[in-house]
Amino acid sequence: MYFIFFGPPGVGKGTQAKILSRKYQIPHISTGDMLREAFTNKTELGVKANALMEKGLLVPDDLMFKIVYETLASDKCKNGFILDGFPRNIEQAEELDNIFSEMNITNVIIILLDLDETEIIRRLSNRRNCKSCGALFNLLSDSLNSKCPKCNSDGTIYQRDDDKEEVIRKRLVVYKEFTFPLKKYYQQNSHLIIIDGFGEIDEITERISSSIEKLTKR
Ligand code: AMP
Repeated sequence: MYFIFFGPPGVGKGTQAKILSRKYQIPHISTGDMLREAFTNKTELGVKANALMEKGLLVPDDLMFKIVYETLASDKCKNGFILDGFPRNIEQAEELDNIFSEMNITNVIIILLDLDETEIIRRLSNRRNCKSCGALFNLLSDSLNSKCPKCNSDGTIYQRDDDKEEVIRKRLVVYKEFTFPLKKYYQQNSHLIIIDGFGEIDEITERISSSIEKLTKR
């Protein structure tokens, strides 16, 4: 199965994509994670991308196309994938359509996970990550000390620079201007599933699963 997840930053795309990835046994392809990994490895792409990510800006399309194409063409994606964080503007959506037709990929399930701005800021400013295993936590629901509850590494819990309130606000402006227009694009060109991202993780998973079931039974 093939999925595209989009929605405002902090809506829970990564969390839900990871759950679907386990359910369907297909890889979770997060372009944000790929860029962060490239920065950790100090590649040219990673260093360039990080300077923009820190400011809440988008990385140029040509850099994104290359990594996305290489990933989707790789062996690990041959039975499906969940794309999270790409496309992020209309040009990327058009390029993705080209990639899909070149790879004979059809029946892609497109999901917009939506949430209002106040809740996004509340969630994102409380989000914490583990540098070692990549796990995501939230101070609103998880009690954290210096050790990661998932992998037990010490001192690896941190707040992403772009989860600081000032940068979150910039990311939201960028989302509205560039990414939100994808809603209309996919409503016109495909079938778009819109999911309310407000609520507990399990509730949202349930909403997503029942929408997918309805769509695949049609
Ligand atoms: P995310 O982890 O999806 O919130 O992405 C974090 C940051 O990575 C974004 O704010 C952008 O700076 C960059 N990024 C991720 N995916 C893309 C993309 N498809 N196009 C441009 N920039 C991206």
